[in-house]
Amino acid sequence: MMKLAILPGDGIGPEIVAQAVKVLNALNLDLSMTEAPIGGAGYEAAGDPLPDATLQLALDSDAVLLGAVGDWKYDKLERHLRPERGLLRIRKALNLFANLRPALLYPELAGASTLKPEVVSGLDIMIVRELTGDIYFGQPRGISTLPNGEREGINTMRYCESEIRRIGRVAFDIAMKRRQPGQKAKVCSVDKANVLETTELWRQVMIELSAEYPEVELSHMYVDNAAMQLIRAPKQFDVMVTGNIFGDILSDEASMLTGSIGMLPSASLDENNKGMYEPSHGSAPDIAGKNIANPLATILSAAMMLRYTFNDEANAVRIENAVKKALAQGYRTADIVTDGCKQVACSEMGDAVVAAL
Ligand code: NAD
Repeated sequence: MMKLAILPGDGIGPEIVAQAVKVLNALNLDLSMTEAPIGGAGYEAAGDPLPDATLQLALDSDAVLLGAVGDWKYDKLERHLRPERGLLRIRKALNLFANLRPALLYPELAGASTLKPEVVSGLDIMIVRELTGDIYFGQPRGISTLPNGEREGINTMRYCESEIRRIGRVAFDIAMKRRQPGQKAKVCSVDKANVLETTELWRQVMIELSAEYPEVELSHMYVDNAAMQLIRAPKQFDVMVTGNIFGDILSDEASMLTGSIGMLPSASLDENNKGMYEPSHGSAPDIAGKNIANPLATILSAAMMLRYTFNDEANAVRIENAVKKALAQGYRTADIVTDGCKQVACSEMGDAVVAAL
């Protein structure tokens, strides 16, 4: 039996995770699910955004399905008690170094993008973001007071060769799997090698690694240009690979190409494909508790879980097709609704996907 840890988290987390659980239950898988608090919910339950029992459950499980963490009401807590620390710590503890964020535009939602339909229709990008290194974890860090009494903030951007190589491998392997007949697999590595030595090394290692993947065409782009090209001509990209901070920003940008952040799943994997799966968006405290959030990113995250951790491609595709069918039938949550469609609540969207299964 496969073991799944369910961590609903804060804000809309519990509402959207409940829909994904409903979908997984409908598939009658040999799967045990155990729930535990994280983020603000962890702080409320145990005074810690990542309670020991939650971490232990995650370590003992084959995969983790997470809602989202965070709420403005925790902004005044000391930094180590804030919900986001729980997320950074669980990623580090599970050694989830590879974050996969697909940006795929469903034809039914082409009108929801702020870009012209011809620029985005048929868009299918996979952003591979390194998740456990870079300036988010580098030491030294902190805010200190200089001898002259002025405060100074410091963060450190760093990557070692092996960290760059293992994320590069994930990107090259995915590019090979995504290759369409008659087309070349493509990886675009994003850096700022003209200014930052850390990313100069990143580029060197990617070039060395590419020798092992003659079928994959490797290109390089500076992050500022990549931000611009994603808006100008996003369909030029297939797989993009980049470090933690650049990936954080570019994957959010790519998500808006598709119209709604509520549609985008994500996977974070370790070296054995154990993974944590979560929607790309946050906890949306502004709409929490109203049953209006879009649960599709979380449902599609469950599909990614079946594909990448449980090697169950057939059921992953079943879920994805059920989501497509629900959209084709005109069901829309408030964030993606357009004229002529049927606006439904979060739980009703979950029901529509189950019915389509
Ligand atoms: P957010 O992603 O929570 O919300 C941004 C906007 O998108 C909001 O208007 C929200 O209503 C909307 N939105 C997000 N998800 C939606 C969904 N499924 N359906 C419909 N609308 C949706 O980002 P934010 O407002 O910057 O952050 C809110 C909180 O979430 C903060 O505490 C932040 O730290 C946290 N956060 C958590 C994660 C995570 O858990 N991985 C990621 C980003 C932000």
